[in-house]
Amino acid sequence: MPSYNMKKNRHELIASISHDLKTPLTSIKGYIKGIQDGVANTPEKLERYLNITYKTANDMDGLIDELFLYSKLDLKSSPFQFEKVDLYSFFADFIEELAFNLEQEQGTATLVAKKNDSYVVMADREKLRRAVSNILQNSLKYMDKEHKSIQVLLSSQPDTVTIKMSDNGIGISKEAIPFIFEIFYRTDASRNSSTGGSGLGLSIVKKIIEEHGGTVWADSKLGKGTSIYLTLKKVI
Ligand code: ADP
Repeated sequence: MPSYNMKKNRHELIASISHDLKTPLTSIKGYIKGIQDGVANTPEKLERYLNITYKTANDMDGLIDELFLYSKLDLKSSPFQFEKVDLYSFFADFIEELAFNLEQEQGTATLVAKKNDSYVVMADREKLRRAVSNILQNSLKYMDKEHKSIQVLLSSQPDTVTIKMSDNGIGISKEAIPFIFEIFYRTDASRNSSTGGSGLGLSIVKKIIEEHGGTVWADSKLGKGTSIYLTLKKVI
């Protein structure tokens, strides 16, 4: 694997974006050409070709949305609307939905916090939702255990709240950890998987949390699982 620079230069970024847009576009063109040339010569084949074309176009659309979001955050052109957010109820909603979905597959999602502590922080609710959702989607994407387990642990310090989001998935190697929050960085696990990540998810998380004046870091053990930590300023 080539070595990875902490700060990608503009040329490398343009190359990455071009490649990530070109690959699905080539596939879409291939399927349409197949239809034009009569290769999809049964109704079933035609339907399959159209479904794949639609799904690929949809994935591209998602990638472009993510690129837009990243660049808006990078240019600071998307204003943050800070309000008081009680992280306990914020996460209770997330976990309830996740637990419901995981239950069908014998998995668990739990929220752990102390009853009498305060978890009220200043946050942009929508952007925080996006950050948390990127992290939890990764937990589901990079999961190889039969019993999926996701846990959110809230802890309260005098000035901050720390959020620890843990999963029992495939984990991340020690060498990769320093880079996972960099734009377009992805490990082979992402590159080779059918879910195919863009390498933008965690760089968006980092931008959002830093704009909150918070911090983000990760801890992981290959084969065992990953924890992503966030800190946010508390309302005192
Ligand atoms: P991607 O779109 O590839 O998922 P991200 O920026 O969200 O990009 O994550 C960067 C890389 O970090 C991923 O390619 C993946 O290898 C690794 N990663 C992130 N979260 C997890 C997790 N919960 N478990 C294992 N690997 C993870």
